Amino acid sequence: MTLVVKIHSPLTKPILSLTLLLSLFFSAGCENSNRKPEYQVISGRTMGTSYQVKLAGNNLPHKTQPIKKEIDLRLERINQLMSTYFPDSELNRLNRTDSKWFPVSKETYFVIGNAQRISRDSGGAFDITVGALVNLWGFGNKIRADQIPDEKAISTLKNKLGYDKIMLNPDELLIGKKHPEITLDLSAIAKGYAVDSVAALLEKRGILDYMVEIGGEIKARGYKAENHPWVLAIEKPILESREVQRLVSLNDQGMATSGDYRNYFEKDGVRYSHSINPNTARPITHKLASVSVINPSTMIADGWATALMVLGPEKGYEIALREKLAAYFIYREKDGFVEKYTPDFEKYFIETKTRL
Ligand code: ADP
Ligand code: MG
Repeated sequence: MTLVVKIHSPLTKPILSLTLLLSLFFSAGCENSNRKPEYQVISGRTMGTSYQVKLAGNNLPHKTQPIKKEIDLRLERINQLMSTYFPDSELNRLNRTDSKWFPVSKETYFVIGNAQRISRDSGGAFDITVGALVNLWGFGNKIRADQIPDEKAISTLKNKLGYDKIMLNPDELLIGKKHPEITLDLSAIAKGYAVDSVAALLEKRGILDYMVEIGGEIKARGYKAENHPWVLAIEKPILESREVQRLVSLNDQGMATSGDYRNYFEKDGVRYSHSINPNTARPITHKLASVSVINPSTMIADGWATALMVLGPEKGYEIALREKLAAYFIYREKDGFVEKYTPDFEKYFIETKTRL
């Protein structure tokens, strides 16, 4: 058996199938079809995917156009800084530089600093130096081979891998590379950061009831209407249709999901997903289908969802417990999907446990 399907979704991939890559979560439940929605919707495209912002509450603006403009400007700036797709993004300039130290914006520094923390706490499962390997395996912005790369090429890049090869200088906002060929990739964390950044922008304008979603990473605060919390759906990890697995309610929390079912290729019956295990320099191939993490910071939720996905079914759960993360796992078993969640996740469910 050879290729089955492959869809790219990381940060800033420019041309994508919008419908399939639309959020892993969407508003659901609590909607009364006879009543006009009591919120305003702003939507657009960014980072190779779509975004949607819903505004509710008493402080709604008469016109959404000025806010949309502000949101688009903010997202454009984040893309100019952290995209792996814009050749001249700050990140790509850092990737290309031969100098040991490179000055970056406070935004990029903040995201890299947090990425490093998640790397340490996940024992290196999360590692933004996977950039070159992501490209080699065909999940980046280079040629998409859908082939298993040459063993020698894998081991060459493995030697240049390692979050411990990145140095931070907080006083001067410098990022250091212990090896000039290190390629950083912030795709697993920057979308979450962008969600937080848009949320902060809304709060600054006095809007405290909102939902912000970018390519499936999400933050919700307040209420969408009186006594109606923001209700979000965690999708079943399947491509064929969009079905709700679980409903959760968020208030001033971010949620991010990493899955192996939207961006992968199959070869000889093995599914190679876009999350790379830094230990093996290979895509993960285990039975974990998706991980959702809830955290006040969507950036942290985003990073950890990827980290837990890489850690896999057992280790991922163990580390989630140790780190007291609110994490929800869906495993692929012989007779269907099986779910597992940490005690901290349970309070977000808005329905009782259902059989899959
Ligand atoms: P999505 O982009 O679908 O939301 P993730 O947040 O899990 O999914 O990000 C996956 C992307 O992160 C990959 O496409 C790749 O660019 C990058 N990546 C892959 N493996 C790792 C890893 N071990 N640590 C950090 N980033 C990774
Ligand atoms: Mg992520």
